[in-house]
Formats: sequence, C-alpha cells, structure tokens
Amino acid sequence: MEDKQITVSSPLLPPLEEFMPYLEKIWNRKWLTNNGDYHQELEKALCDYLGVKHLALFSNGTLALITALQALRITGEVITTPYSFVATTHSLWWNNIKPVFVDIDPVTMNLDPEKIEAAITPRTTAIMPVHVYGTPCDTERIRQIAETYGLQVIYDAAHAFGVTQNGTSVLNHGDLSILSFHATKTYSTIEGGAIVCHDAKMKQRIDFLKNFGFADETTVVAPGINAKLNEVQAAYGLLSLKHVDKAIQNRKMVAGIYREKLKNLPGLTFLHELPGVSGNYSYFPVFINESAFGISRDDLYFKMKEKKILGRRYFYPLISDFPTYRGLPSAAQENLPVARKMASQVICLPLHHDLSAADAERIVSVILNEHAAASRNK
Ligand SMILES: *Cc1c(COP(=O)(O)O)cnc(C)c1O
Repeated sequence: MEDKQITVSSPLLPPLEEFMPYLEKIWNRKWLTNNGDYHQELEKALCDYLGVKHLALFSNGTLALITALQALRITGEVITTPYSFVATTHSLWWNNIKPVFVDIDPVTMNLDPEKIEAAITPRTTAIMPVHVYGTPCDTERIRQIAETYGLQVIYDAAHAFGVTQNGTSVLNHGDLSILSFHATKTYSTIEGGAIVCHDAKMKQRIDFLKNFGFADETTVVAPGINAKLNEVQAAYGLLSLKHVDKAIQNRKMVAGIYREKLKNLPGLTFLHELPGVSGNYSYFPVFINESAFGISRDDLYFKMKEKKILGRRYFYPLISDFPTYRGLPSAAQENLPVARKMASQVICLPLHHDLSAADAERIVSVILNEHAAASRNK
C-alpha cells in the first residue's frame, strides 16, 4: 500500500453535526457580523480560557498587528526580529514604520534582548518581538529595556495561544499582544485573530479602529479599517475551543515521540523546553548541521518530500532577505548571523491533532534512514 501524504499542519475541523445548531441560530437571528452574540460570547470565552482581561477579535492576525500599532500611535522605527512570518514586518510597512532588525538568541530563536539597546535611535518608539514557535521571549529583560528607554512593546503572539509561564499567560506581557487564528494554527476560526490588552479603554479604542473608526453612529475618531470577525467564524471558534485541549494533547504525544527518538542523532538539534513553561506544541522545529548530520537541510527536506512527508522551512528565508526589506541597513548579512544560520538549518516537522503515533514513527524512521545512508556514503 502507498504511504499516505503527511502535511506539516492540518486544520482542526470540529465535527460538522456539532456546527449545524450554531448555524441554525445565526440564520434565526439574522445577525451576521458587527459584534453579534457569538462574537461577544467568544471574546468572553477566550478571555477565560487564556487567562487575560480584555481581548478584541479580528478577521485575521495581520490586521490585528496593523491595528495594534495604530492603537498605540507607533511611528518612526520599531525594533523587530527577522526570524518570523512575513506578516510581523509587513504590519510595520503598512503603517509607514521603518523596521530595524535585531538578531535572535540561538537557544530560543527569539529576539536577543542583549542586542536590542545597540539598535535604539532617537526615532525608535517600540519593540515588536515574536514568541517564535510559542517559546516565551525574555519578557522581563524586554520590559526593563522598554521602561528605560520609554518604548512600547507589542508582542506578535501568533504562536503562543494558551502558553503559560509560571502559571500565568504570556499574553499578559507588553502593552499589547496579537494572536492569529488562521486555519494552520493550533486554534483557529478559519481566518481570524485578536489583540489582547489590559484595560477597557484600550479595548474600546481597538474596537473603534477595527470598525472604520466609528465610536458611535455619527462619530469617526480615526481612519479605521474593517477587520471584524463575522458570526459564522465566531461560532466556529466557540466550537473549536471545546476541541482544542484534546488537539494539544495529541500534538504533545507526537512531540514526545520526536524528542525521544531523535535525541541522540548527530547533527540534529531541537528546542529545549524552558522551565516553568507550559507550551502548546504548535511547531516542532529541528535544526540540521550539514557536516555532522551528513546531508544538508535542503537535501533532507526534499528526501522527506519524496517519502510524502511535508515539513516546512519555517522561517526561511529571513524576512530581512525579501526585496522590500533587504536594502535596509539592519538587514545586512553581518548584522544577523544567528538568524541567518538558524534559517539555513531549520525544518519544522509535521505536528497536528490528527497525527498518530505510527505517523510519528514513520517520520522519525525516514529521518534516521537518511542520516544512516549519508553516514554510509561518507
Ligand atoms: C500566522 C502568523 C501571522 C499572521 O496571522 P494571519 O492570521 O495569518 O494574518 C503573524 N505572525 C506570525 C508569527 C504568524 O505565524
């Protein structure tokens, strides 16, 4: 029998029959968007689930990032990481803000706090770090720097749904945090996202900005965008929330197999689990050192593909290498040695709610076999 294809991610679709009653309610209410009942219910449910005070839903994470910068009136230059999904930096571009790339920490892959201060100029107004793969940033050090220099902090927490550190949500750090509920993420509303904030005034301002700037029927306070989440997606989100814990449990099971079976493989490393952190098992990146492993990252990536195992090279290329950004002084090769090295070595292994232990074993054996073959050919 042919091996089935294994994708890096798979959408967490709740059972269709469970979704039908929600749809019937929406049809009966005839209220499809603009802060409907399900929208309000989901904002409350997510605040409870995540352990945060205020949360504003968005139609996607990118518009949440763009709006967060506007809510804080960020201008000038913002310090950020090149090792992320492009939307992180695009959100700056859409606000006419100059990104200043700073290198990453080789242990966490997050923005290296020790390199932030050297990048601050009189035009710097904020720091936009990313909790990459759901690993919390050094939030304490970043807070100290932000306080010293009078900067705002906006966390791109697109990977950090449900992640806690010492028992509290990582989303409570910084001035604002942004989530993505895209179909490929651990928790999804198909497309969707949110801004997490700490007080009701800010939440209200964000709600104006995501609805054209309307404060009431006749008052428009700013050139806001339309970034509202509709009732069908909010209902999908409410239902998905009931299934997400089980999905995370399965991801944990698969990640456990990867950790156990790949731990002593020469030339392959993976991330350490940080003490006190309860993660969401969103991603399982491995880093391939060509000389020790025997073949390059790209060779392994394509060999896996031949065996119908689709990893993803997240995050490669670096954001700073795309045409829009590569001319910036901070995008220079020598400024970002760690990010560059990690981007050249990374493969995210398949990780989702629908993988079995047997699937994980098959993926592991493909990697072990490629390493063994490369060692024989040396
Ligand atoms: C997915 C993602 C986004 C964008 O979210 P969308 O909901 O797809 O717009 C932003 N930043 C990071 C780090 C992401 O992974």
